[in-house]
Amino acid sequence: MKYPLLYSIVLLLFMACNTMEETPNTMNEQTQKTEFALAIHGGAGTILKENMTPLLEKQYKAKLTEALQAGHAVLKGGGTAKDAVEQAIVILEDSPLFNAGKGAVFTHDGHNELDASFMDGKNQGAGAVGGVRTVKNPIRAARAVLEKSKHVMLTGAGADQFAKEQGLECLDSSYFYTERRWKSLQSAQRAEDGQSVILSEDDEHDYKFGTVGAVALDKQGNLAAGTSTGGMTNKRYGRIGDSPIIGAGSYANNETCAVSSTGHGEFFMRYLVAYDIAALMEYKEWSLEKAATYVIQKKLKKKGGEGGVIALDKYGNISMPFNTAGMYRGYILPNGELKIGIYGNDDF
Ligand code: ASP
Repeated sequence: MKYPLLYSIVLLLFMACNTMEETPNTMNEQTQKTEFALAIHGGAGTILKENMTPLLEKQYKAKLTEALQAGHAVLKGGGTAKDAVEQAIVILEDSPLFNAGKGAVFTHDGHNELDASFMDGKNQGAGAVGGVRTVKNPIRAARAVLEKSKHVMLTGAGADQFAKEQGLECLDSSYFYTERRWKSLQSAQRAEDGQSVILSEDDEHDYKFGTVGAVALDKQGNLAAGTSTGGMTNKRYGRIGDSPIIGAGSYANNETCAVSSTGHGEFFMRYLVAYDIAALMEYKEWSLEKAATYVIQKKLKKKGGEGGVIALDKYGNISMPFNTAGMYRGYILPNGELKIGIYGNDDF
């Protein structure tokens, strides 16, 4: 060999770079299981402080707090991660502030078509509903598909019928109407027709997502994830997004993590965002933070996919990356201490 020293240096550098890439990033992350944990989101998007009123901000924070405290009570009392996820999401679905349940966005034809998914990390049990029009709490219907049917996903009128047969509360579709979302549909349609539209404060929020989701770890070490949405304003032709797609909108596996997504569904579906995070942890042994940040901030962002996730690993580590201006999000610790964030620069 002509230059043995140079060759050895190059080889060593190459090995060092490779090791860096493969080494699990355990920065600030615990590897001892916390007692229990819960994180929620209320959608990601163009959420800017200058477009928000103090009153609206207060309302969002109060609702996120209520949802976190409800899930926390379940987990503290020894309840399951599945129950905590359901309880937290039902509170967000019942609030007109979020694009899920009451307050869901409108389709092109003026309907509300709701999607939801639910996953049990213990056994990869999964359930989902797409395009339901009467189920008050679609997350309950998704869970019922998981627990009471032999299927994973039901859609349309059949899914509404299934929910009714399961004794879930079904209502006239007018229940889902909110003036705010109706106005957003009008603006979206005017914009589609090429008319210039001045977006109101609410439109700014409504245009960009607003899905809700929760991930939980219970005292028994089980993870669960759930996501619920009205989809995207002005959607047509029975469009269904990522939220009810297992692996895209929700994913849970006790060996790795629980994830709930929010953002531009078409991208989350193509890149199987929720599963991708779990797969990086499983196959590459990456930490939760490293895997979730990489998928949202690098991979998805590079492809032009806007949104974020909440993710929780089997030890109770939480990661909440997003590549949009903001994301309604929060978590609660076993001692009841909670953190809520809305904007990109909120300190976590
Ligand atoms: N992901 C949802 C969808 O594409 C929208 C959202 O997250 O708000 O249907």
